[in-house]
Amino acid sequence: MQFKKFKDESGFDFCFPVEYNPCKADAVSYPGLSSVDFTLEMPDEFLFIEVKNLDNPNIPQDVIERERRKFIIKTKKSSKCASNCPRDGICPKCGKIQFVCETHSKLKDTLLKRLAKGEIFTKPIVYVLLFEFRGFDYEQRRRLFELIKTNFPRFAEDEYSSIHSIKFLLYDSKNFKEKYTDFNINPTRSEAEKIPAKAGNYI
Ligand SMILES: [Zn+2]
Repeated sequence: MQFKKFKDESGFDFCFPVEYNPCKADAVSYPGLSSVDFTLEMPDEFLFIEVKNLDNPNIPQDVIERERRKFIIKTKKSSKCASNCPRDGICPKCGKIQFVCETHSKLKDTLLKRLAKGEIFTKPIVYVLLFEFRGFDYEQRRRLFELIKTNFPRFAEDEYSSIHSIKFLLYDSKNFKEKYTDFNINPTRSEAEKIPAKAGNYI
């Protein structure tokens, strides 16, 4: 089996079998349109993958902390914010929690681009959010899953006619590996790990 390798997507290196035609979907950018990270065509399904790794050790700590904080605020239902909080994490356009809105937009934009090219999805589309975050317990993950699932984007009737079905799944990297055993996923090694420190260097 031949593999295609994609390095450092949110702190993971991915290897997918070439026969599934793996594409890094956001490599081609269209103005104003977002995209999921990977698309593959498997024997029984189209697989769309979005990767969000808040445990990525290669991102500067302050950036991660900001992301995490926003994310935790985002998934809490807070009706009243302090005056210095500009409704952090809420999409100004649709009022959804921003992460949920982004996750939906990426799916919708990816699909609309491909439908516009005349593609017909004769097999189920499985949209996987690979979400790595130790800061979330089981209950918080479940809630995130529900939030994304219950507010799923709608498509117009004629768009739907070209789509067999869409299923949403939330995995962490461990579950994902167990489910898709012919993929290979490994944490991206940081530059610091690749270059052995010289004697006498400060670390
Ligand atoms: Zn929105």
